[in-house]
Amino acid sequence: MKKVKTRTVMILLLVLLLAAGLILFCVRYVTCGAQWAAFSANDHVYTDGLLSSGQILDRTGTMLYDCTTDTYHEDSAVRRATLHAVGDEDNNISTSVRAALTDQLVGFNPLTGTSGGGHKLYLTLDADLCRTAYEELDGRKGTVGVYNYKTGEILCMVSTPAFDPADPPEISDDDDSYDGVYINRFLSATFTPGSVFKIITSAAALENIPDIMERSFHCDGSDTIGGETVTCTSYHGDMDFYGILANSCNCAYAQLAVELGGETIKQYAESAGLLRSHTVSGLTTAAGSYSIGTAAQVGWSGVGQDNDLVNPCAMMTLMGAIASDGTAVQPRLIAKETSMNGLTLFTQEEAPDETVWSAETCRTLRKMMANNVKQSYGQSNFGDLAICAKSGTAEVGEDVTPHSWFTGFLDDEQHPLAFVVMVENGGSGARVAGSIASAVLQQAVEQWED
Ligand SMILES: [Zn+2]
Repeated sequence: MKKVKTRTVMILLLVLLLAAGLILFCVRYVTCGAQWAAFSANDHVYTDGLLSSGQILDRTGTMLYDCTTDTYHEDSAVRRATLHAVGDEDNNISTSVRAALTDQLVGFNPLTGTSGGGHKLYLTLDADLCRTAYEELDGRKGTVGVYNYKTGEILCMVSTPAFDPADPPEISDDDDSYDGVYINRFLSATFTPGSVFKIITSAAALENIPDIMERSFHCDGSDTIGGETVTCTSYHGDMDFYGILANSCNCAYAQLAVELGGETIKQYAESAGLLRSHTVSGLTTAAGSYSIGTAAQVGWSGVGQDNDLVNPCAMMTLMGAIASDGTAVQPRLIAKETSMNGLTLFTQEEAPDETVWSAETCRTLRKMMANNVKQSYGQSNFGDLAICAKSGTAEVGEDVTPHSWFTGFLDDEQHPLAFVVMVENGGSGARVAGSIASAVLQQAVEQWED
């Protein structure tokens, strides 16, 4: 009798163990099934090492890459313009959809596995707008980003140099024309911001110097800050607070930075979201940096030089926040995911908004950035756009052409767009990056979907 009892207990234990194992497997199958299915040895979804499941489309349904047939968009300029979003066959571009969002493309379903033939991933990008940005960059290295600061949808994301993924070239390590070609400069790189950083110094001044609007500033073309000479491109004379931003006066901003102190400037770069990485539809962006040095270095940091580094996507998001009274809507790249026959399976939720500076500070900055266009950049260069902007011409070494920046937003309820343009060694910010921004934004407004 005792023997039977022992056996019953043993069998019961084995049954329990089996049940526990089955439950564990089911849980793992549902939670990790997509990852297992996307494993590169799964020949149901890979052909000769290439993912053969899923499609990548733009926001209008234009096919950018069909994994099932290994075919790209027919226009080679579109293929180059969307290279960093779509990816390449060797997955060298780690933040591309093909490299980073394989699970979604495979479209694993716990009930039917991968027999549905993958999923369609609709990006928020507009292929035509990306092509225009690519053509405007005209062979120079850099990046253009435009997003809707109310919905977070990135309409344009271009990084150059690029290449045609349908006909990838042989790229040798020492070929300067392809320097950093696998890096998406918009998401994964940081650059010396130059004068676009004066927005951060301005915010710190607005919130920490009570009489800033009543102050008058004077510029003789150069000044001594912490024992070092800070120079301006010209003699700016007498100015108010609006004037120092419109003239982008280095002398005034270096003085303000020293008065505010490195800790305060750093705190404002931090609250602007510039010193940490962000997530854009699951892709991680590069964090910028700011270090506090001597008085002279603090002075230079306040004008965006010294060791300041900024990521273009974070800068664009900050511009959206200034346009929205301080609320930073986080950018996203995936519009929706559907089955092959069009059934919507997933619409990306908007990431929680973040708050940067006070609404009052942002409203003042908005007026100052509108004044920049009126006073310095010329409204006629931007058609009818209700554009608010700041240029930057960032020194990156002696005898090296500076980086050209232009960033800002449209103060326009119907077309809530924020943007960033950065051209490496492009020269004048307002002229070079400004004209690219103008062309891309005018097209974005013209083709706006109501
Ligand atoms: Zn000056």
